[in-house]
Amino acid sequence: MNDKIARFFAERRPATPCLVLDLDVVEENYTALATALPDARIYYAVKANPAPHILELLVRLGSSFDTASVQEIDMVLAAGARPDCISYGNTIKKQIDIARAYERGVRLFAFDSIAELDKIAAAAPGSRVFCRILTSGEGAEWPLSRKFGCDVAMARDLLLRAAGKGVVPFGISFHVGSQQRDPNQWHAALAATAQLFRDLEAEGVELKMVNLGGGFPTRYRSDVPPTEAYGAAIFKALRTHFGNRIPETIVEPGRVMVGNAGVIESEVVLIAHKSADDDRRWVYLDVGKFGGLAETMDEAIQYPIHSHRTGLTERVVLAGPSCDSADVLYERADYRLPVDLCIGDRLQIHATGAYTTTYASIGFNGFPPLQEYYI
Ligand SMILES: *Cc1c(COP(=O)(O)O)cnc(C)c1O
Repeated sequence: MNDKIARFFAERRPATPCLVLDLDVVEENYTALATALPDARIYYAVKANPAPHILELLVRLGSSFDTASVQEIDMVLAAGARPDCISYGNTIKKQIDIARAYERGVRLFAFDSIAELDKIAAAAPGSRVFCRILTSGEGAEWPLSRKFGCDVAMARDLLLRAAGKGVVPFGISFHVGSQQRDPNQWHAALAATAQLFRDLEAEGVELKMVNLGGGFPTRYRSDVPPTEAYGAAIFKALRTHFGNRIPETIVEPGRVMVGNAGVIESEVVLIAHKSADDDRRWVYLDVGKFGGLAETMDEAIQYPIHSHRTGLTERVVLAGPSCDSADVLYERADYRLPVDLCIGDRLQIHATGAYTTTYASIGFNGFPPLQEYYI
């Protein structure tokens, strides 16, 4: 935890659970990514954390935005972004929402099926469209599975048909999976993308843009390669597959932009054993899966958790406060907390700036959504 956040907790003693996020760290993250990928335009994936303070900061830094709904588009516009800096990147949109986005000036849309392409053609004529292709998700701690994207043959067919429908076949997108620990995962996707560029060019369709997606990781309990390693691996893959005809590129970072900027403070509500000879303590916190820590599902994302106590530690099970048995954070993963941990202690859950506030339920069991402070 950095000094600025530590000072805020010490001086303000905010009620728990709450997230405190340091905007200076977001700025550092933006600069690091812009430096690592100097030729790519950055479209911040708004869903990672849509707080107005973050959006306004990113507008000031010159970022563009990847959005998933009209509500997100409105938030980005309210923060001062121009509509030509907005991509409507969700491949699953109601036609009425495509029309609303178009009304607001958005002209860049994602699709991965014929039906979605038809909706865009009807509601956003003349717009630029990009087709999302499937990736394996290998190497990612939070894979995005087969829900998004189509295979390469279908992408080729759909992009060929796009021009005839009155939209501009503009590019290809993919997402290698969130919290992607392997910088080389862009390689295979770019090989397929470059082949598609060539196939379509032979048919007279000249694509202009590759959307490299998100996936850049933040540090949780274990080290991840630095942002520069991703920049280098991606540039190498672009060179290998596109030679000296590298197209316009964009990236859609979410997690890497805000993850390490936030700390959630939580209070220990209960410490209990399940039987007289049970050697593992259950530690129940005032934040859980429904309070913002949804990415602990299957213990996929493992946040570093700290206590101010420094004594001997022992293994614990960590759970949230709600009346749902799914609300266990970590049972299999090796989490240790001090033996002298007490009810009423505060714990810090680090690297929680991404995918927390928006995942908090609005009132399951009457618990209010996660409080947020941007400093
Ligand atoms: C969620 C999402 C992102 C951001 O992914 P991260 O792994 O957080 O960087 C980018 N693009 C699309 C289309 C997404 O759905």
